[in-house]
Amino acid sequence: MNKFKFVFPFLLLTQGVFAWGFYGHKMVNRLAVFSLPPEMFSFYKANIDYLTENSVNPDKRRYSDTAEACRHYIDLDHYEKSLPIDTVPKLWNDAIKKLTKDTLLAYGIVPWHIQVMLTRLTYAFKEKDLDKILRISAELGHYVADAHVPLHASENYNGQFTNQHGIHGFWESRLPELFSADYDLFVGKCMYLNNPLENAWQASEGSFAGIDTVLGFERMLNNNFDVSRKYSIEYKGATQIKTYSKEYALAYHQMLKGQVERRLKESILMVANMWYTAWVNAGQPNLDDLTKDKKQPKPSDSEMQQIIADEQKLLNNNRMIGREEK
Ligand SMILES: [Zn+2]
Repeated sequence: MNKFKFVFPFLLLTQGVFAWGFYGHKMVNRLAVFSLPPEMFSFYKANIDYLTENSVNPDKRRYSDTAEACRHYIDLDHYEKSLPIDTVPKLWNDAIKKLTKDTLLAYGIVPWHIQVMLTRLTYAFKEKDLDKILRISAELGHYVADAHVPLHASENYNGQFTNQHGIHGFWESRLPELFSADYDLFVGKCMYLNNPLENAWQASEGSFAGIDTVLGFERMLNNNFDVSRKYSIEYKGATQIKTYSKEYALAYHQMLKGQVERRLKESILMVANMWYTAWVNAGQPNLDDLTKDKKQPKPSDSEMQQIIADEQKLLNNNRMIGREEK
């Protein structure tokens, strides 16, 4: 008997519809730490492995909690054909009144859930509850990153209506895994958000604006590419998997002209902005007594770039191919 287990293409191509893949989520949370101000940096850096590993908790929960799924997306193309999104009230209570809660839950609530998580994090800071601060920071980072994935603003989230099945995992997992080593993910210092709900909305609106690029370019590429070379077989340990070929991924990635890198960078900065905003709103509690580590001096920008490059290398060495199957 063949010692290699073959994963059916259908299983493979339906994987990864949760956004960014585990690899991307881990990278976003990890790199967001380096945008924090000195008063927060030591604490977050001391707990960076926790923040990295637990960035994927909300996706794991989706297998067991039916209320979880809608927190990860908002299908703005259900409501609008193009920007601006003026049929959906930005405030939750107004949106419920106009559209009903059932409708909102059916088409996703990610901007509002980000606001909920931000409030929870603010309270965790006020209580100086180490476990809560870390758990909620990790999960807030997840939802913020999800909001930046274009297909998380679309009902056609996996190309299922346009014969592009699998494109979700292709964009959010396969491309970052193959190409993020060359990205410049240094995003500079984070900022305070005066209206975080508005920023959460902007993330989803930016995703909505990118849907045509994600789907349209893949369709276009299929007309100019030998489709017999679109997929290839790779090995994950002793398991064979069918995946988008490197050649096809490279051609598509070039057409996207930095879209994945831009959305990753915007995710990283927004995660840091949200963490920072919660901390400021909580009255800037001293986090030093929450960590056993001695406070480390804040590195310079060039040192930070080196640290981030090292972090990326580390992540690339531990890269995950695809996503966990259930
Ligand atoms: Zn998710």
